[in-house]
Amino acid sequence: MLKAVTRCLWSNPVAGRRMMSHHVPQNLSGKVAIVTASTDGIGLAAAEALGRRGAHVVVSSRRQANVDKAVSLLRSKDIKVIGTTCNVGKAEDRDKLINMTIEQCGGVDILVSNAAVNPFFGNILESTEEVWDKILGVNVKASFLLTKLVVPHMEKRGGGSVVIVSSVAGYQPMQGLGPYSVSKTALLGLTRALAPDLAHSNIRINCVAPGIIKTRFSAALWENEGVLEEFLKQTSIKRLGQPEDIGGVIAFLCSDEASYITGETITVTGGMNCRL
Ligand code: NAP
Repeated sequence: MLKAVTRCLWSNPVAGRRMMSHHVPQNLSGKVAIVTASTDGIGLAAAEALGRRGAHVVVSSRRQANVDKAVSLLRSKDIKVIGTTCNVGKAEDRDKLINMTIEQCGGVDILVSNAAVNPFFGNILESTEEVWDKILGVNVKASFLLTKLVVPHMEKRGGGSVVIVSSVAGYQPMQGLGPYSVSKTALLGLTRALAPDLAHSNIRINCVAPGIIKTRFSAALWENEGVLEEFLKQTSIKRLGQPEDIGGVIAFLCSDEASYITGETITVTGGMNCRL
């Protein structure tokens, strides 16, 4: 009896352990995949997961040095990859990214819109108009504008797949991260709003909402043991997520195995409660 109670109170530390298989199906060969903000963290893991499945990937972020590093890392893993700088908040950078992809890869089949910024931490009532413009501009508007840019090219290929990276914060606003959380809720709406129209062009659009994933972006949430413990209390799987936990889900959504999924958000949170 006591044993059973203990088992209930302590969740299995092995649950959710990743057992990586080296045999990844080459179900994206011949596809061209653009991933934004893909020189680190979740974007880089998504680029690797798509590349391991045979896609030709296009990586980008704001800094050339980061792009160069990501390109050589992925090439060292035998992934077909090119890269360029692209701050997704800038129209000319978005154009450059798409044009370079078309010129060098001959088309585009997959867009992963992963870039996000959070320039504000604090009481939401103290956030300024500039903060809102920046957060909504980069996190939400740029996702839409990039999608709009790739649609005609996907149509030329007979269809495609878009994946937007939202967050668990889009379901339950995180304390101190009000404007960022609202931008992530907006992405759930954007996914649903675009799905019916994109379906006419055989383009699926889906969303991934990660929980707490160990990256530089979320360092404030996991570097402090007390804060981390509070977050882990909300999960069933008692560990932080890794970027690879998200990369594979993104690759799945881009593959034909997800051919009947659109307008959907998959939460990848180790079991955190997610509801609007
Ligand atoms: P990360 O490891 O810190 O990587 C951020 C990447 O974004 C870097 O490659 C960075 O490179 C690039 N970047 C930053 N601003 C950019 C911009 N304006 N345009 C283009 N690239 C930009 O971050 P991450 O944790 O993987 O976050 C990726 C996405 O996951 C974000 O949308 C974030 O909201 C979401 N997310 C993260 C977590 C988490 O716990 N980590 C949870 C839920 C959702 P440069 O510095 O060279 O630009």
